[in-house]
Amino acid sequence: MTLLNLSSALHEKQLKLAIGYCCESCGSVVPHTMLELHPIPSSDLENGAKVCNGASDILILCTHCHTQLHEVSIPDELQRSAIRVRPPDVMDNINGILSGPYE
Ligand SMILES: [Zn+2]
Ligand SMILES: [Zn+2]
Repeated sequence: MTLLNLSSALHEKQLKLAIGYCCESCGSVVPHTMLELHPIPSSDLENGAKVCNGASDILILCTHCHTQLHEVSIPDELQRSAIRVRPPDVMDNINGILSGPYE
């Protein structure tokens, strides 16, 4: 999988739907306009470039949690703990959306 186009509006909407419009940090259900994607790029071992490899490298957060996360600068490993508890079917869903065609 290559670098994700996170600016795709269609994908963004589908991704938010996939998690039920529920912030992955605080668990609040919020309007989709209040949810934001937070990529956690991992280092590509081949060329050292930072890449997002799919559902395991993306968090979907409400604007409040997203702002806080950047202000406090939480370590990547801690950020990923929210991704690790994501149900497998949601992971599959997200990966399916991300591998779909860009519109
Ligand atoms: Zn939140
Ligand atoms: Zn972010």
